[in-house]
Formats: sequence, C-alpha cells, structure tokens
Amino acid sequence: MPFNVTQDSEIIPSLGSHPERTTMSPNLTTENQALRAKMDDLLEQAAHNHQIMRRHQAFDLEIVGAGSFNELLTSIFQTLPASSDLDVVTLTLIDQGADIRTVIGNLGIDFQAFPHLIFVESEARLGPMNRPTYRPSMGSFHEPQHRTMFPTSAPTPGSIAIVPLLRNKKLIGTLNLGSLDTSRFTPSLATDFLEHMASIIAICLENVISNEFLKYIGLTDPLTGVYNRRYLDRRLLEEIGRARRQEYGLSCMYIDIDHFKKVNDTYGHLGGDEVLCEVATRINAELRLSDAMGRYGGEEFVALLIAAKPVDAMRVAERIRASVAERPFHLSSGENLRITVSVGVATFTETDRTESIESAAQHFVAKADHALYEAKENGRNRVTSYE
Ligand code: GH3
Ligand code: MG
Ligand code: MG
Repeated sequence: MPFNVTQDSEIIPSLGSHPERTTMSPNLTTENQALRAKMDDLLEQAAHNHQIMRRHQAFDLEIVGAGSFNELLTSIFQTLPASSDLDVVTLTLIDQGADIRTVIGNLGIDFQAFPHLIFVESEARLGPMNRPTYRPSMGSFHEPQHRTMFPTSAPTPGSIAIVPLLRNKKLIGTLNLGSLDTSRFTPSLATDFLEHMASIIAICLENVISNEFLKYIGLTDPLTGVYNRRYLDRRLLEEIGRARRQEYGLSCMYIDIDHFKKVNDTYGHLGGDEVLCEVATRINAELRLSDAMGRYGGEEFVALLIAAKPVDAMRVAERIRASVAERPFHLSSGENLRITVSVGVATFTETDRTESIESAAQHFVAKADHALYEAKENGRNRVTSYE
C-alpha cells in the first residue's frame, strides 16, 4: 500500500503528545526512537515494494500487448531483467518435432538474436522439476543440473528460480531467473508472485505462437511447405516498392514443370504430389535466404531474386533447370522418373513512374510468364529471358 511520509510524521508525534506524558521517561524516549526507526524502515520497504509492483504491472501490460513472438521475447529478455533486478533471464520451450522453430524460423525470426531462448525436444529434457505440482523451484545454481538452462553466454548466477510455464495444466516450458546474489532465491521463498507472472507469460507465449502458426498457414502452401501465391503477391509489392527507390535490382522467375499432366496420368495424383514437393526442394536449394519462392499455381513456381543482376538471375535459373533435369526423382512407390522444367526470367525495369505498384507487379510477372511461354515453345527444359 502506498504509505507516505506525512502519515508517518502524524503517527509518531501523537505518542509524544499524550496528555499524561508531557515529560518523557528515558525508556520511552528510546522506545520512541526505536519505533521511529522501525517505521522509517517499513515506509522505505513499502515505497520500495510499491515501486516493484508498479514495474511488474508495467511489465504485465507490456507482454499482454505483445503482437508477435519477437516482441514478446524482447520484453522477456530485456524488460523483465530490468524490472525485476535480475542478472539473467532465459526461457526454455518444449518444441517436439521442432514445429515452433520451423514455423517461426520460416516467418523470418532470427533465433541468433535470442541466445537465451532454448528449445528442448521433450519435458524429460527440461531438467529437475517439481512434479506433479510444477511449483517453482529455487535455490543455488548447480552447474551440472542447471547449465542447460543458463548458457555460458550469460553470467553464471549465484541463485536461481526455475518457474514452470503451464497452459491448461500442460507444461510448455520454463522461465529461468538468475541472480548473482546467492541469497536472492532460496527454497523457502514464497512463490505466489512468480507463479502469477509465469501464468501470464505462458498465456502470452501460447497466444503469439498460435498467431504465428495462423500467419504461417495463411502464407504457405500445405503440400510443398513453400510460400503460397498470397504471400508472393504481397512480397512482390514490397519488393517493387523498394526496387523503385532504386535500392537494388529485382528479378522474377516463372518456373513450370514440363508435361506434368503426363506425370499425373502415369504415376497418379500422389506421385505427382511427390514430384511437386521435390521440385520445390530443388528450386529452394539454389536460392539465397533473402530470395522469395512460392507455389504460384498447380505446377508453377515463382521466385523473386532480390539484389540480383540479370546475368546472375539467368545463372540461378539455369542451375535450377539443371538440378531438376540431371537427377532422377524417386517416388515412394519405388518408381523412378525424370522431370524437366522450363523457366522464364524477367528483370524489373522502371518504364512508367506513374504506374501503380500493383500494375507494375502484374506487368513484371507477366513478362516472366511470357518468357516462360517462349521457353515452352522452343522445346521446354530451357531458360529464356524476357527481351
Ligand atoms: P506443359 O509442359 O505445357 O506445362 O504441360 P503440363 O502438362 O505441365 O501443363 P498443364 O498446365 O496442362 O497441366 C498441369 C497439370 O498439373 C494439370 C493438373 O492436373 C496438375 N496439377 C495441378 N495442381 C496439382 C496438384 O496439386 N497435384 C498434382 N498431382 N497435380 C496437380
Ligand atoms: Mg502450368
Ligand atoms: Mg506444366
């Protein structure tokens, strides 16, 4: 509760001004002084606690408002240590099958930026845990038990709190707090506050992870796992905006599998699906991380090459063509087949500055599509650039 000094000075003199004690005995004076000192301590403590409470409320508000995984992690790793006076905060998440890492990594989150984010495959890998209550465990840092939770990149704590993160009674990870002060976390410390904080963090984590999954599903092709047309169309507008500001060159590749209908007819739709997945993998293997590639239609892929000169784009296209044509495709049925692709390449050039970005994007892809048509006309299994 917010005590203040005015209340204090009103309480203490009232002892001294008691009508029957106009002159105070030495005993009472000492007692009064002791009481004053104690009161000062309590007030100081209360003011301190009040400040802590406000900082924690501010932290709660910040994480509840986090709109993305990135923002939430930044709050946990930067705001929390400052607001709670901690020397190290790490987060361990259970990520069976690396689903979280795959989805969030594909959405462009750089895990290197969060060295205190640790993924484990299963609960068993989390280390010592108060089962089945999942209450926080606190005490001294023990190298062999706790090292995985506190990587060496962080200062080695003197005392730690391992706080389980639970959602619907299911463990999703732990929040790991460390202090250089060996007496900060002791086994007898009350845990209500930590549990409250952990429950809010767990809800926020679950929310942002679900949101990132939804985002991912909306922007990727379920069959091949690469981006879908919606993503590419959006990305195209962004990249054209940037290319127009002449930051760098931009090339578009339109890739179409040759005679794909025959693949379906011969190996069935499932065989065709397997070929689509493998073609997507081979295209991706030739691209840079900064390029954007997706399935644009049935057996058609579009790749945007960022900051690539036309000659480089042609070279990459030729590598893609060769990597598809030169190695046979192995189907799960045991059958092997050969596939080829045709590729049309266009480079973004500004012809009409008054044209809208949307229309410029359409023209750009149409040029690549036109070059693809020529590649098909000229016999397939070839790369053609738009002239
Ligand atoms: P071309 O060399 O001229 O490109 O001939 P093509 O047979 O590849 O071209 P066309 O566009 O006529 O046929 C594309 C085929 O792709 C037809 C369609 O059934 C098939 N297709 C589209 N989407 C999928 C899919 O998701 N899975 C499978 N297996 N086939 C698909
Ligand atoms: Mg086609
Ligand atoms: Mg085709």
